[in-house]
Amino acid sequence: MKETAFLIKYGEIGVKGKNRHIFEDTLVSQLQNAVKRVEGEFHVSRENGRMYVTACSDYDYDDLLEALSKVFGVVGICPVLILEDEGFDALAESVIAYVKDVYGADVHATFKVNARRARKNYPMNSMELAAALGERLLDAFENLTVDVHEPEIVINVEIRSHINVYTKEIAGPGGMPVGTAGKAMLLLSGGIDSPVAGYMISKRGVRLEAVYFHAPPYTSERAKQKVVDLAKIVSRYSGPMKLHIVNFTEIQLYIYEKCPHDQLTIIMRRYMMKIAEHFANESGCLGLITGESIGQVASQTMASLAVTNEVCELPVYRPLIGFDKQEIVDISNKIDAYETSILPFEDCCTIFVAKHPVTKPSLKSIVKSETHLQEKIDEMLKTAIETTETLDIEP
Ligand code: ATP
Ligand code: MG
Repeated sequence: MKETAFLIKYGEIGVKGKNRHIFEDTLVSQLQNAVKRVEGEFHVSRENGRMYVTACSDYDYDDLLEALSKVFGVVGICPVLILEDEGFDALAESVIAYVKDVYGADVHATFKVNARRARKNYPMNSMELAAALGERLLDAFENLTVDVHEPEIVINVEIRSHINVYTKEIAGPGGMPVGTAGKAMLLLSGGIDSPVAGYMISKRGVRLEAVYFHAPPYTSERAKQKVVDLAKIVSRYSGPMKLHIVNFTEIQLYIYEKCPHDQLTIIMRRYMMKIAEHFANESGCLGLITGESIGQVASQTMASLAVTNEVCELPVYRPLIGFDKQEIVDISNKIDAYETSILPFEDCCTIFVAKHPVTKPSLKSIVKSETHLQEKIDEMLKTAIETTETLDIEP
């Protein structure tokens, strides 16, 4: 028995007072975007404070659920069986068949029937309908027992112009619909952390844009393609994003030539932040996002982060700041980024990395080293920005 509608449960956005309709409108349009990627025709609707996705043609159940389960703001998805009203007996039989279909003929569980009557001319009231259906189910299944307080299975039956029956709930990703919280610029490398960081900020309703620094010929075309692939993976949740690909080779070589090697990573990171901030300001982003986490590497000690931060005026969001690597890996796996992230292509930071990077850089000494770059750095930054390639990434 194939369900043709999906009741969309949304949590956090339900409590937003006056802003509620903005959140709901955004959720509707994000659901519409999501179903566009699924073969078939669908209709997204709102009825009495509830949201439904209804299939208007044949469709692939798994593909649809996959798409819906990536829409931020969705807490749960309940597939709904839609029945014509053909009398109580027909309804009872359909419900029995459906329960068999979902839970198996020998289901062993406690249950209750939740009935709602939106159409008042139905011959039974909600209580009577729930009791009568409950009785039929008890007769049909040997190992079902009623528990109205903490049932393992809830069978919802709603009498409208048609009859809705639903019992399963598939978890959504939670969060807020993308587009309700502005836009931010993700520094996206080919590693494990930054795609996860982008996912997490996007989950709070933030649209993303991304920037990647590569260093050809030291980093390959395949390393770049890996970042494009990761942006695509994140965009399945965040929606389409622009990806700015900055050629960082000249700047890196110049830093390598002029600055103490134990400070390379920090100085490089500061210029990355500056360039990222340029593109962020250009496109109205309200912050930068990185995948940093305290103490993970030398450039991510609190002292290093403070020095990196100092070049930016925009807030820098670091959603992984308190996470252990394994916790990050778990999310990376959950969003299907991990297999791509661990592909062994070189990264511009790993090529120019020092053997013993500073872990407690002082801002003063870093700024002093940067004065060695005075002659050419402004021109180089300008060139890097002008030669940046921008791609439109679609899920
Ligand atoms: P990741 O797994 O995200 O690459 P990492 O553990 O390798 O992180 P670093 O290489 O120190 O850590 O980078 C810290 C953060 O700086 C990254 O999470 C990312 O946000 C940003 N970053 C590093 N390298 C690049 C790059 N080549 N392009 C864009 N952003 C980068
Ligand atoms: Mg990295």
